[in-house]
Amino acid sequence: GSFDEECDYLFKAVLIGDSAVGKSNLLSRFARDEFCLESKPTIGVEFAYRNIRIGDKLIKAQIWDTAGQERFRAITSSYYRGAMGALLVYDTTRRSTFESLRKWLRELREFGSREMVVVLVGNKSDLTHSREVSLEDGQSLAQLEDLSFMETSAKENVNVEDAFLQMINKIYDLT
Ligand code: GDP
Repeated sequence: GSFDEECDYLFKAVLIGDSAVGKSNLLSRFARDEFCLESKPTIGVEFAYRNIRIGDKLIKAQIWDTAGQERFRAITSSYYRGAMGALLVYDTTRRSTFESLRKWLRELREFGSREMVVVLVGNKSDLTHSREVSLEDGQSLAQLEDLSFMETSAKENVNVEDAFLQMINKIYDLT
């Protein structure tokens, strides 16, 4: 039998954040354990699945990714529809992507469901020499907005699993 028949829950979650912060690579790490050095702008929407076991329950996590939100405003509402969680990603080496979070949070509140689980992710933590956003800046924003927070490296595979699993566990706790 396929997993679909046996799976207890299907959780939809979305990746959001500025272009080139590493959303696609975080997803491919989580779903396929791959990292790709070339940046290929996502056209429209892609998604990937990963099956997770929590206790005796089987959860199918469906994670949506798009790099084209700015260019594809029309898809925004379908992108968020039914999403129970979001990874809100910025690039620790580009301050502008951190400043954009205000805009992303506004969009989340407009299109996302009220009880959506949001994990703030500062990616590219491996690039210590070009850091423009401190760990403390990420922590303070997370505290202010009441979000979970983690710094990750999709490249070095640091905290990627943790960030996704934290989100999925929190969604599970709400069901
Ligand atoms: P997206 O547009 O947000 O989906 O970003 P991508 O996943 O396409 O990544 C944009 C660029 O950043 C690519 O060149 C990636 O190889 C690179 N990148 C992504 N994550 C990391 C990371 O954790 N560390 C480093 N050093 N580079 C990364």
